[in-house]
Amino acid sequence: MNLRGLRVPRWLRRRGAIEIKTREELEVMRAAGLVVARTLELLTDAARSGVSTAELDDLAEQTIRDAGAVPSFKGYHGFPASICASVNDQIVHGIPARECVLADGDLLSVDCGAILDGWHGDAAVTISIGEVAAADRQLSAATEAAMWAGVAAVEPGARLTDISFAIESAADRAGEADGIEYGMVVEYGGHGIGRAMHMDPFLPNVGKPGKGPQLRTGMALAIEPMLSGGSGETRELDDGWTVVTEDGSRAAHWEHTVAVTDDGPWVLTAPEQASRPPEPRAR
Ligand code: MG
Ligand code: MG
Repeated sequence: MNLRGLRVPRWLRRRGAIEIKTREELEVMRAAGLVVARTLELLTDAARSGVSTAELDDLAEQTIRDAGAVPSFKGYHGFPASICASVNDQIVHGIPARECVLADGDLLSVDCGAILDGWHGDAAVTISIGEVAAADRQLSAATEAAMWAGVAAVEPGARLTDISFAIESAADRAGEADGIEYGMVVEYGGHGIGRAMHMDPFLPNVGKPGKGPQLRTGMALAIEPMLSGGSGETRELDDGWTVVTEDGSRAAHWEHTVAVTDDGPWVLTAPEQASRPPEPRAR
């Protein structure tokens, strides 16, 4: 794993209290998460060659508002849209645009957030547009596998960086299987979530296990690894939002909002009946 550029995790500098939710509050977060899940399912179906990322943004906003929820990204620090749509070498925070028309072979990462009754859900998927290169399919699958490994590490009594370690280890294993050293993006990562989208703690996507705060029932975390086919180093475009890979390599991003429960991880942004980690995928 390439770790150049690793910054000191924010939770080492600032240790705010981590919000604990009641079961009832988590139920509302699950409802918010289902809005996000349905939106991402619709976008996955709609995303194809000839469709612009602005059209996907329109569909997302309509779907979220029809569900009685509010798109959390819209207006967030001035962000102009309801989803982030990041294509190919764009990692995260891509701004949807009419002129950004998808084509076969593109790798599109869509990040989506919704607020329902004051509670947040936040999730991301990477979508293959038409036929993509085998390397890009593997990159996306490796990133998704790293996310699920992180989810599986969520349990009461575990430490925060047990999740980080699980994510990094899974990405390394996937890279070994694929014959490539994936670049983990370390300047961005997961976060606490609940009454706000971004809360303490910051969740690094790399690190030794057994560090950071202990996980407790009622906490919720967004787990979101970002991998690239290159170094993992990043650069922000002049639009002040879009984060791209420094070396132009392609990137993938997968995210779920997950609650810590006594029964194991509760994946709040997974589709109905699918909120537990799936069996590892055949790769
Ligand atoms: Mg997100
Ligand atoms: Mg997030």
